[in-house]
Amino acid sequence: MEHVIRKLGDPVLRVRARPVLKIGKGTRQLLDSMASAMYKAHGVGLAAPQVGVSKRLVVIDCGDGLIELINPEIIAAEGSEVGIEGCLSCPGVYGEVERSATVKVAALDRFGKKIWVDGDGLLSRALQHEIDHLDGILFLDKARRLLEPSEVEEMERREEGSI
Ligand SMILES: [Zn+2]
Repeated sequence: MEHVIRKLGDPVLRVRARPVLKIGKGTRQLLDSMASAMYKAHGVGLAAPQVGVSKRLVVIDCGDGLIELINPEIIAAEGSEVGIEGCLSCPGVYGEVERSATVKVAALDRFGKKIWVDGDGLLSRALQHEIDHLDGILFLDKARRLLEPSEVEEMERREEGSI
């Protein structure tokens, strides 16, 4: 299954995604295809609404291996940090976003087992960014400043992955 990444303006990005009530083969196939869409686009995270599926599923890989989250919830957050974010659904746009410095997320894995993920740095940012997608929120809504075209050029030269 090949997925096209939905872009800003697509209504699916703006609705609250439904919880996954039954985790089965279809869920696992969707997680697989989300991961391949993320890797293909050189992203570090992807939420199901970004492939047009309004369900609470997220995949993240900040370079330490694939994390799959079903019905993720932030159960603790501490500190604050401003960093630059981009999004596979908003190509070419980057902004400064304030996020919690560390978060603890509870979720289910692909077999329905409860898991917890502790994140700091980029992982903390990716967790918050992707969970926002499940509530129809884009980083643009939270950005305190968008980068100027010259700064974007610099970013893209460094080829950092988009969340
Ligand atoms: Zn995004």
